[in-house]
Amino acid sequence: MTHREDLIQKKIQECEQKIEKLHKQFPRLQEIADEISRLSYERINVTIFNKNLTRAEKIDNEVKLLLREKELILKANSIPQNIYEPEWDCPKCKDRGYIFPGVLCECFKQERLDYIFKKSGISGNMELKTFDNFDVTFYRDIKAMEEKVKRCKEFVKKIINKEKQNNLFFTGAIGRGKTHLSLAIANEVLNQGGTVIYKRIDDLLDIIREYKFNKEMDNNEKSSQLEYLKQVELLIIDDLGAENITPFAQNQIRILIEDRNNFDKPWIICSNLNVNELQDYYGQRVTDRIIEKTDIFAFEAEMSIRELLKSRELQLKKR
Ligand SMILES: [Zn+2]
Repeated sequence: MTHREDLIQKKIQECEQKIEKLHKQFPRLQEIADEISRLSYERINVTIFNKNLTRAEKIDNEVKLLLREKELILKANSIPQNIYEPEWDCPKCKDRGYIFPGVLCECFKQERLDYIFKKSGISGNMELKTFDNFDVTFYRDIKAMEEKVKRCKEFVKKIINKEKQNNLFFTGAIGRGKTHLSLAIANEVLNQGGTVIYKRIDDLLDIIREYKFNKEMDNNEKSSQLEYLKQVELLIIDDLGAENITPFAQNQIRILIEDRNNFDKPWIICSNLNVNELQDYYGQRVTDRIIEKTDIFAFEAEMSIRELLKSRELQLKKR
């Protein structure tokens, strides 16, 4: 049995125990359940063997009344109507991983991505970076930053609705909140059931290198895994410019961005480099691909956010 099926069975069992307890507390609910089950068997008999459609109709009505009575008992005792359902992690697919046979659920797609990429790349306190705790008051131009945050929220919405849109290039010195805002976007997309891969550039290049040159993987496996980097609904590349810029790195970044642009798959790049520096380091071809369908956000704070926090703390202590 797969891990998923184990968990499903466990949840069903937990639910059955919950129902048993409930029925002990409210014996009438047990009677209703027994009666509905008896009627269901009778309905099969009368429709298939006796072809007695009048009786079948009568049974349907009796079942309806019993269900109504059950609903009222639950309501009167403030018990949620979904108590008869196991508590699924993903109500969309009831944790099965597919919606119809052959149609994978988003939760399964993310699980597979997580497996291949050792999680979406978002772990630990990265999950705590949200729009709510992103502080726009650190920035030189607060209004402009608020506009950017608004645009980021629209970015999420369009990913979920699979609408075409520009990509995002976040530029600014270290500690200016680029990573925070990109993780806020990632977390929101994940929360809404989308798929995300977040990688620092050097880790991303390591992954590509491993898939390209690992002799133990067969070619099918390799290409399908590289395919995920192209297909995932949102790819975030952090710290572009911090890696060793080799012809291999330049080529791989260009190919990846080109492919994603061609299929309108959005991405975010965070970099300490501005566009001019990008051109100096990566050359015209890579830069063109990066800026062709992209909104460029400059992150300008008076000093780094970590320093700002420290100086605020000091001011508070002085008071
Ligand atoms: Zn699901």
